Formats: sequence, structure tokens, C-alpha cells
Amino acid sequence: MCQKHTEISQNPSHFEGSAEELKTATTVQANYTDYIKDMKFFDPHIHMTSRTTDDYTALIDAGVVAIIEPAFWLGQPRTGLASFKDYFSSLVGWERFRSSQFGIKHYCTIGLNSREANNEALAAEVMEILPIFLYKEGVVGVGEIGFDDQTAAEEKYYRLQLELAKEANLPVQVHTPHRDKKKGTELSMAIALEHGIDPGMVIIDHNNEETVESVLDQGFWAAFTIYPFTKMGNERMVEIVKKYGSERIMVNSAADWGISDPLAVPKTAALMKIKGISDEDIRKVTYQNAIDAFAQSGQINIADFETPMEIDQSLKYNGNTVLRGGQIPRVDKDSIIIS
Ligand SMILES: [Zn+2]
Repeated sequence: MCQKHTEISQNPSHFEGSAEELKTATTVQANYTDYIKDMKFFDPHIHMTSRTTDDYTALIDAGVVAIIEPAFWLGQPRTGLASFKDYFSSLVGWERFRSSQFGIKHYCTIGLNSREANNEALAAEVMEILPIFLYKEGVVGVGEIGFDDQTAAEEKYYRLQLELAKEANLPVQVHTPHRDKKKGTELSMAIALEHGIDPGMVIIDHNNEETVESVLDQGFWAAFTIYPFTKMGNERMVEIVKKYGSERIMVNSAADWGISDPLAVPKTAALMKIKGISDEDIRKVTYQNAIDAFAQSGQINIADFETPMEIDQSLKYNGNTVLRGGQIPRVDKDSIIIS
């Protein structure tokens, strides 16, 4: 508990600015978990491969019962097909098992990320193995794909992967670029429509105030990433929900190997509660909408995480376990709270 409170106070981006916001920060610091006590959360974009077991524990303690891990860039370029293969395998294998060991249901999306689409020789090889993984259990979409530098190669592989999604009847999780975001977002949507993809099957991610209206108007899902120390803090997220309501809007952490906050979804829910957003609207943007969007894959069964998952850390995955020598496995059949 104390750890969470410290994190909030060390994270001024969520509460920077006015005296009123500072007051909110103090309130949240004192009562953060009280505001979200009985709430459940679904984080539709989080890269757990890069996170620790402490993060898993913090997530389940805060009520995050299910997550989606999109395939993405690892921070340095991959040099061969085998590392893509092993990475995709870990998303549907080891990482899913690791998540289950902390009582969290793990799904993933599989795709060639925009950055590595620029290595055309390798990208062509990756395209050939994508269908092997897209049809596996627990794969809820093609993602995260789209534009980074908005190059011709990125466009080519975005288009090819949209066709794969169409064929597999899977939702598409679109990463929008950090530079020239407005242009990249519009282009991503136009291309999806050109390929005859139903906008209701496309989740446009990393939105901001400049992009949200057009995304919603055209019938796409609008996802928002709450990054610490950037423009899209959760104070602004509250304002977006006040202005646009909760239809087709969802919040995620996109936590990865960079500076990010895996608890962004429950923290934003707490802030929304304090700011007078209704429980139903909070539930939609931090839980239900993500489920509705990605359940179109046919791969999400709410019963798997609606009630607390059984935790049995004596289980093994291919002979490997999350435990280290001498640790006693936690076998917890009843409680969602791990102490
Ligand atoms: Zn991501």
C-alpha cells in the first residue's frame, strides 16, 4: 500500500498545475485505494515482458484482473526471424503463464511493429510466420501495427497486416505515431477504411485531444495511453471523458521498458471518481469497452476473470516456475488480494 502512495507523490505529471489539482493529488494520496475498492480493471495495452513480478502483484492488488499485451519493438532492432518467433511464442506461452501465477488473465495481440517494418528483408519473413500465431488461443487481435516515421515500408506492412486481420476476422490495434500524430492517425484510419475494415473492429491507440473527435466520429474505438511526464496525464483524461462521454473510449497504461506506470488505469479510475465521473462511465472506460472491442475476436470469456482467478504457484510451465530456490508457492483459491 505504502509503495503505491509513494509512487503517486513521485509522479507529478498526473497532478501538475493548479492549486485545485494539487489538492486532488493530496486527496488521492491519502485515499487512493478507497476510491476503487470494489472496481475491476482491464488494461488493454501493457507490455508485461518488460515488467517485474512486483508489477504483477501491484496490478492485481489494484483490481486489474485482465490485460492485453501487444507485440511491439523491444528497444533495439531484432536481427533475425528467430527472435520474432521466440518473442511471439513467449506472448502466448511463458508470459501468459507468468501472469496467471499472479491471478491475472493475459491476452495478447500479434503483429509486426511499425518501426521494424522498415527492415524490409526481415519484415517479409515475419509476415510469413504471423498467421501461425494469429490463430492461437488468447490472441485477441493484430497489433500493435501502424505508423512510426510514416514511411512507405510502414504503410506497406500496415496494409498487409490489415488484410491478415480481415482474413482472421480479428480486431486491429493501431499504434499512432508520436510525431505528426494527427496526420498519422488520419492516415491509419483512411487506409483501414480503404481496405474495407469495419471501424468497429479497429482500436486507434495513443489518442489525444487533437485526434479523439475524428476517431469517434468515424466509428473507431479511441484508446488513450496515460504516460507519466507527458502531455496525456490523467487529469486531461478526465476532461476528455467529461467532454466526449464513455462510448468507445478506453484507457491503458502502455507500460513497457521505458518510463511508464503500470497502475495508470486504476489511478485514472480513482481520479475520475474524485472528479465526479459516474461509476458506470468509469467502468466503461477502464473495463467494459476494452472487453467489448477485443471480445470480437471470439477469444475473451469474461467468466475467466470476473471472479478472482485461482492462483497456484506450484504450477510449472515447461518445467519452469516463477519461484526461486526455497520460496514457498502461494496457493490461493479464494482471495483476489495478495498480501
Ligand atoms: Zn505499446
